[in-house]
Amino acid sequence: MTAPIDLLERLIAFDSTSRRSNLDIIAFIRDSLEGLGAVCRLTHDDAGAKANLFATLGPTDRPGVMLSGHTDVVPVDGQAWSSDPFRLTERDGRLYGRGSADMKGFIALCLHAAGRYGSLRAADPLHFAFSFDEELGCIGVRRLIADLVTLPVRPRLCLVGEPTGMKVVAGHKTRRGFACQVHGRECHSALAEGVNAVEAAAQLVTHIGAIQRRLKQDGPFDHAYDPPYTTLHTGLIEGGRALNIVPADCRFQFEIRALPRQNPDVLEAEIRCHARDQLEPEMKARSPSAGFDIAVIDDTAGFDLPDDDPAVVFFSRLTGDNRTQRVSFGTEAGLFNKAGVPTVVCGPGFIEQAHKPDEFISREQLAMGEAFLDRLLEEL
Ligand SMILES: [Zn+2]
Repeated sequence: MTAPIDLLERLIAFDSTSRRSNLDIIAFIRDSLEGLGAVCRLTHDDAGAKANLFATLGPTDRPGVMLSGHTDVVPVDGQAWSSDPFRLTERDGRLYGRGSADMKGFIALCLHAAGRYGSLRAADPLHFAFSFDEELGCIGVRRLIADLVTLPVRPRLCLVGEPTGMKVVAGHKTRRGFACQVHGRECHSALAEGVNAVEAAAQLVTHIGAIQRRLKQDGPFDHAYDPPYTTLHTGLIEGGRALNIVPADCRFQFEIRALPRQNPDVLEAEIRCHARDQLEPEMKARSPSAGFDIAVIDDTAGFDLPDDDPAVVFFSRLTGDNRTQRVSFGTEAGLFNKAGVPTVVCGPGFIEQAHKPDEFISREQLAMGEAFLDRLLEEL
């Protein structure tokens, strides 16, 4: 049986940056699992250049437990790495490579556990769900879930192995991202007939900031989360062509990260109403085509399971630690929960090391993850 570290070395060597095809790494994982007797299903993107893999080891007429992760990684462009990011390199007990923590370390442990499954005579099946384009807004997994819900027997529980230091995360915020296109009217800046798109964008951005300050001060609050309130921010803005031209275009992107108990629709409506009722009338009075186009570019459901939920109880028992956590970053777990598969997040490594140059997972975390999956196999 291949050791987890050797599997991790193989997985890191696939450059599965989200902008590239993931078919090679999916083929490697599928071949490994099929070699162990797994039944595999692929769901592709429209272009056929990317795929999710759903695989089942053991009986298909019983629910079983599902382990889930994403195969894509964030880019290394512009990052200063001390070694080749696509070659696993060990220094001082740390295993460096893009995706080592987020989240090929967990996938390596899944493949290792799959290798052990056959010798156990388990009564319950073990399922695997590996997705594409998670880093672009949990895009790929939606197709896998659409396929999953058509199965006659669905997984009973799911674990998303994002890096949490092997702590059980029982809730995370909802993430909704927006792209806003502001249309104005161009003219020489010495003249008065233009509609300044940059100024209009700035007014809406300021309003988004004001909502953030209100939520920070007045709540709602949930102190299981850090920060304990819903956050909004604008992360990107560009517009204008020259100082002496009134700009006709401005684009910006903003996001809402809502507590699970706060409805992001209400905040979205507040922003849209402000644009439509407070800002657009003056713009349209001077140029009928001026205004705001706001599009949702990312919508990832949050979730919040009570500490006595069967999924929380089951996975907490396997970690031996019944203190759960809530986090502010989004994962695919919200989408699985929304589809009716009780899901928590728990995996080796730490989110602090993800997405950075010299991303690593420690041998210790990998060993903790391996011991956790060994206990899961015994439960099956
Ligand atoms: Zn991740």
